[in-house]
Amino acid sequence: MIYDIIIIGAGVVGTSIARELARYQLKIAIVEKEEELAFGVSKSNSGIIHPGTQNSPESLKGKLCVKGNKLIRKIARELGVDFKQVGELIVAFNENDLARLEELKEEGKKLGVPRLKIVGKKWLREREPNLSKNAVAALYAPTAGIVSPYRLAYDMAENAMQNGVKIYTNSKVSEIHPIKSKENSTAHFEIEIPSGTLKSRYVVNAAGLFADEIARMVGIDDFKITPRKGEEFILDKKREHIANHLLFPLPSKTSKGILVIKTADGNPMIGPTAQDGDDKKDLSTSDQGLKKVLEGVNRMIPSINENDIIAYFAGLRPVAGDDFIIRHENKVPGFINVAGIQSPGLTAAPAIALMVCDILKSAGLKLKKRKVFHSHRKKTVHLFETSLRKTKKLIEKDPAYGDIVCRCEMVSRKEIEDAIARGATTLDGIKFRTRAQAGRCHGGFCTTRIMKILSESLKKSPTKITKNGSGSEIVTKERDND
Ligand SMILES: Cc1cc2nc3c(=O)[nH]c(=O)nc-3n(C[C@H](O)[C@H](O)[C@H](O)COP(=O)(O)OP(=O)(O)OC[C@H]3O[C@@H](n4cnc5c(N)ncnc54)[C@H](O)[C@@H]3O)c2cc1C
Repeated sequence: MIYDIIIIGAGVVGTSIARELARYQLKIAIVEKEEELAFGVSKSNSGIIHPGTQNSPESLKGKLCVKGNKLIRKIARELGVDFKQVGELIVAFNENDLARLEELKEEGKKLGVPRLKIVGKKWLREREPNLSKNAVAALYAPTAGIVSPYRLAYDMAENAMQNGVKIYTNSKVSEIHPIKSKENSTAHFEIEIPSGTLKSRYVVNAAGLFADEIARMVGIDDFKITPRKGEEFILDKKREHIANHLLFPLPSKTSKGILVIKTADGNPMIGPTAQDGDDKKDLSTSDQGLKKVLEGVNRMIPSINENDIIAYFAGLRPVAGDDFIIRHENKVPGFINVAGIQSPGLTAAPAIALMVCDILKSAGLKLKKRKVFHSHRKKTVHLFETSLRKTKKLIEKDPAYGDIVCRCEMVSRKEIEDAIARGATTLDGIKFRTRAQAGRCHGGFCTTRIMKILSESLKKSPTKITKNGSGSEIVTKERDND
């Protein structure tokens, strides 16, 4: 079979593109090198749906960010995604910085960011009681929001699959051969993955940090992806109301600065740092990173304390210059690069998807609507956000909802079994979909139980159950019974 389109990379960008293209009568596949989806950059970011501020008015990323912020609302309703509009404040601590706030406001207005306003000390005291008394003013962007980045990617992918998209995991693309033909209609690409060769008329490269390596496979070598590391620190849920908005300092040239972040799951987060490196696999965190983050956030909220931190991680922004690279490669007809998708790529993803559809259309792909497109998916049940009354009803219907596996985050056996039915095969896959293991004890109590459920549901030996794919097995030997 020849696919119409193969998308390389199942992060939030690849899955958004797949879902958008699934509206049309096309044969579509996503090819992902990891064991599960959203195990790349899309799993380790701040989860902010940016309003569009802090981008140059001419930039592609700025325009796509503003559009993505609008689009996410409908998508969230359709897919049952936990988007919350919480608003953001870019805070100035010095009268001299007021001019910069005005500049940011004007730039935002040029991009079409709605309802921006500068707020003063009184406004801030009333609405952000924990904010430093040194804050003099802020740029308020009410349309900023938060979302669970991995749940968004999973929901996009599931809905795409519901509409016929095929997903290949554990399928690292190692070579791509453009096959030329005299009649252009039969020209296609041959894509090598471990299980064989896939054929496709068009290829969309959404490979995140590795998009430059994929582009090089077809002879495009005019950009290089540099990983820009961001270390983030998650605070205990009891600090959930430490801030009522997303809090930003004035941005620098390379980053939006160290933030106080509200998350879809309730735990506040502080970070990220911004450090250019050359190792695309280095996800280490450091004492220096922690120090920098604490210094940064304490300028905004002095009461945040190192002891509030329950977990940390690092993510790598795929940087290829200042802007996104989204284009059809005329040198390689049918090949579309979606590269350098650094922040605000999570926000921009739905708008990137629409842009890619337009590019494919201009490159000759016929976009004929499907007779039936399933735009909605049933919202996933999460007991942590379900009222007690409703939880009781769920348990009456299925007692597995009453069997709590993760006590920190209140996740039941039924939710874990559902996550497996929806595609989870690893401990991280369960964590990102359900939050089991994401609480204060980091899975100290529930990991063995989850492994048992995975092992029974997938009919795999516990020695084959991994944290996040081959090489991350947890146990090496089953105990002899005698
Ligand atoms: C610290 C940090 C904070 C951020 N905060 C925000 C934020 O708050 N808001 C926001 O809008 N954006 C934010 N971003 C940016 C956002 O996370 C990214 O723009 C977005 O996740 C990129 O998604 P992607 O799908 O392009 O990449 P990825 O999620 O990395 O997906 C690419 C996929 O391609 C796969 N792949 C790679 N090579 C191959 C191959 N050879 N074969 C098959 N598959 C392959 C990878 O395994 C991966 O799954 C942040 C980023 C970082 C690092």
